[in-house]
Amino acid sequence: MAIRCIGKVVDSYKVRAKQSKGNIDTARRFRLKGAVPFDCRMLTFDMEKQRLSILTLEGREEISFKVGESGRVALQHQKGECDLFFSRGAFFLNVCCQVPVEEKIKCEDVIGVDLGICQLATTSDGRSFDGKEIQTVHQRNQAARDGLQKKGTRAAKRKLKKRSGREKRFKKNENHRISKIIVEQAKRTGRGIALEDLSGIRNRQRVSKKLRSRFSGWSFNQLRAFISYKAEIAGVPVFLVPPAYTSQRCNECDHIERRNRKTQNEFQCMKCGHTDHADFNAAKNIKLLGCRQSASGRVVGFIRQ
Ligand SMILES: [Zn+2]
Repeated sequence: MAIRCIGKVVDSYKVRAKQSKGNIDTARRFRLKGAVPFDCRMLTFDMEKQRLSILTLEGREEISFKVGESGRVALQHQKGECDLFFSRGAFFLNVCCQVPVEEKIKCEDVIGVDLGICQLATTSDGRSFDGKEIQTVHQRNQAARDGLQKKGTRAAKRKLKKRSGREKRFKKNENHRISKIIVEQAKRTGRGIALEDLSGIRNRQRVSKKLRSRFSGWSFNQLRAFISYKAEIAGVPVFLVPPAYTSQRCNECDHIERRNRKTQNEFQCMKCGHTDHADFNAAKNIKLLGCRQSASGRVVGFIRQ
């Protein structure tokens, strides 16, 4: 334990020295309940009994712990150090695990996934995940936030922080749920997944003011990241396709025009009259690009003639 303690202090100074390019001007301070690193000699898991044995200053102690289903799988591949930390009235362990990834499946077909505003995700199979619950929570919080912000007291600030934390966790759960369903579907049907390469969506997408509040309340990047890493573990290939014209191109006749997209939800082709849900049309376009990329090994996008 003493060695760990020294190690932590040294690490802290090392990091500080790196940040300030060699000058350490102030003494580092440590909180009583700051995170403590443990290695495998000091902390072992008994998965059957769901208990862990941990070295404390008073000797070894056996403590029961809780872990979710995916965490249980990951724990079988524990590697390296863990961090013990205290948050919201309970102790947590951050455990490093090196989960082996499955061999990439060879796919001929691809599921296109459009990440949207009204529908959080729409697949080219026609499945969509709406964000109604998320929006309700967000709007309720927004109203409460406005009220609390006006107050501006310390108690109000604390409440604000608590609320935003709860909302974040709720969103994260939703993102886990949606990404799991999509990746499982791809795996089961032996297909890859195509997503738009949306590195700059916040700046680029044109959205009404009313939608913008909802929009910024949703973490697309998290959903995309969750799909990507779950796919990686499951051996499902992911194709990132250029987002240009995916929402303006008619999936029936290849015609590209901005006016094809009537509203956030409606798509109606100006040339052939084909109508569709805008997100579903986009998902099918994304699928097409994903299939082309899968077949040619090259990134291809739509070009306006
Ligand atoms: Zn058309």
